[in-house]
Amino acid sequence: MPNPLLDFSGLPRFAEIKNEHITPALEVLLAENREVIERARTDGGVPTWQTFVQPVVNANERLSRAWGQVSHLNAVMNSPQLREVYNANLPAITQFYAELSQDLLLFEKYKKLRASQEFEQLPPAQKKIIDNELRDFRLGGAELPVEKKQRFLQIQEELSKLSSEFSDNLLDATNAYSLIIEDEESVAGIPADVLEAAQQLAVSDAKQGWKFTLHMPSYLPVMQYADNRTLREQMYRAYATRASEFDHQAGSGKDNMPLINRILELRQEAAHLLGYESYAEVSLATKMAASPQQVLEFLRKLADKAKPHAMRDLQALREFAAERLNLTTLEAWDLAYVSEKLREERYAFSDQEVKQYFPEASVLAGMFSVVEKLYGIRITQADSSRNIQCWHPDVKFFDIHDADDQLIGQFYLDLYARPNKRGGAWMDDAITRRRIDGQEAGQQTIQIPVAYLTCNFSAPVAINGQLRPALFTHAEVIVLFHEFGHGLHHLLTRVEDLGVSGINGVEWDAVELPSQFMENFCWEWDVLAGMTQHIETSETLPRMLFDKMLKAKNFQSGLQMLRQIEFALFDMHAHFDYEPHGDKTVLQMLDDIRSEVAVVIPPSFNRFPNSFAHIFAGGYAAGYYSYKWAEVLSADAYSMFEETAADGVVNASTGSHFLEEILAVGGSRSALESFVAFRGREPELDALLRHNGMEVS
Ligand SMILES: [Zn+2]
Repeated sequence: MPNPLLDFSGLPRFAEIKNEHITPALEVLLAENREVIERARTDGGVPTWQTFVQPVVNANERLSRAWGQVSHLNAVMNSPQLREVYNANLPAITQFYAELSQDLLLFEKYKKLRASQEFEQLPPAQKKIIDNELRDFRLGGAELPVEKKQRFLQIQEELSKLSSEFSDNLLDATNAYSLIIEDEESVAGIPADVLEAAQQLAVSDAKQGWKFTLHMPSYLPVMQYADNRTLREQMYRAYATRASEFDHQAGSGKDNMPLINRILELRQEAAHLLGYESYAEVSLATKMAASPQQVLEFLRKLADKAKPHAMRDLQALREFAAERLNLTTLEAWDLAYVSEKLREERYAFSDQEVKQYFPEASVLAGMFSVVEKLYGIRITQADSSRNIQCWHPDVKFFDIHDADDQLIGQFYLDLYARPNKRGGAWMDDAITRRRIDGQEAGQQTIQIPVAYLTCNFSAPVAINGQLRPALFTHAEVIVLFHEFGHGLHHLLTRVEDLGVSGINGVEWDAVELPSQFMENFCWEWDVLAGMTQHIETSETLPRMLFDKMLKAKNFQSGLQMLRQIEFALFDMHAHFDYEPHGDKTVLQMLDDIRSEVAVVIPPSFNRFPNSFAHIFAGGYAAGYYSYKWAEVLSADAYSMFEETAADGVVNASTGSHFLEEILAVGGSRSALESFVAFRGREPELDALLRHNGMEVS
């Protein structure tokens, strides 16, 4: 019986894959790959695309397709046995890719190919792939002389240790703290379900009353709802000083500040070894933004525009607090509480009420009809007669055809939460579009791309013996549009080379453009109304309810934007012009940024950097600005649809332009080139501000 993980002739054979197939398949593939790579790196001839790049690409594609199926199953159908096999194979896979990225002979071959006569004749996509490879080798230290390289690798090792220490400290600090409250009066205002969970926590400690912790599901509702100001203050102080010199619960040696200083110092040293002025420049080498200066200018311009709105937001909050809640000063631990009260008074609506208007079938039909009109495609669900193998009976499978009725893409849709399924929502690629050499000489065919779209929404429920369709909140509808946007980026590509096809090779700060772009349609009355149908009355969403949702969306958008800009400025300066051994501390640098852009200054004991795991323990170093950057791109792209909307925003001619210039080209050219080709100019901030309810003057 052949191993289904070694069959690459079509769709994955999920129904046949057993845990015992995994290790043997990966052993075969890793051995095959090592052989192919060994031939490629030791071959004496002049490297060409056909003899050097393509065989390595083919081998690696097989490995990543097989491992992709295993990882996917591990995420959506987890079991102790599968997890064990997955974890047992993970080190070998990681090791393989690490070796590949450090292989100097391969690097030399790429350099030779880059310098060869053939290079000039290659199509742009293939040139881009070769340049990307060379760039990544260089950023990995491949070009350094021996002593420097040793130091470079040492630094990488120490940095990865420091990062995991940083997140361990943060986790330990978060876990170390708890607060038990015994009298009922002191927990007034906190929602019943939160109290129930808090009570269970106390019981499991053999305690009376309610136990609160610094984990989000406990901390956040206390800050938002607890009428007891002292309780809020206690929790705020504990949260804001996690893993700092003030954190006595976590114990000594848990202060993250020495780690921050060391991390910044080492990143700077690594950047200097690679020949860059700062770590920020290393980070931006693979991103759309051109320079740290450009990012800083972008953030400051956005801060200027947002600041008056943030001041207005704060003023409204102050007035409301004084008049309605008798709070004459507004402390850091009052902000979330007062905001919640103000939001309730101004725009209260219940998610439950909205949900009744969004049954699954209407939402899917509405979403498909938007993209069908925009891109001239047709989406149909596969019927059961085709026996498509899925991993769970709830999974649906769809085909996408173009205007000429050619099949151009396919996707799995796994919508509902289940036990043993990883939380959140995401898009992943199962098969990527590319040209493949056919069996007969000269024959070439196109491999059809396939995507996994995974969400965790509530499933249909049986009510009085009848199955009621799944109902989505508006936030869930937005998530679905977002992931579908990533999916279309992968599926509607026209690139024929794997390395830059779909989302492959797209700059990190531009990859959210197509997904955030799709979210805009969920705030469009004409689009949204058409996809609502009340589960009992079949009525469309009332306009008044929609208007409330829209206002709630922009509630305190000025304050929120300014806060994100503050974090992004801190991140960029820390990695650009901050001197680890200079006369300023990290905290003083943050103070300077706050006094420049913030309207709310946190108390002096606040140790925000000590818990900024995104940049000190995650992949966001000198990249936190990307959140705002991608929002500007997507809002500005969407505004072209608004401008050309003579017959509504769902407009086929702008749609096909977006498809041609953004979706179809994938990573085959730079994101800036693609954006300018679509928009006719470089990105501007106005559309984002307008979409956030900030009028542009
Ligand atoms: Zn996304």
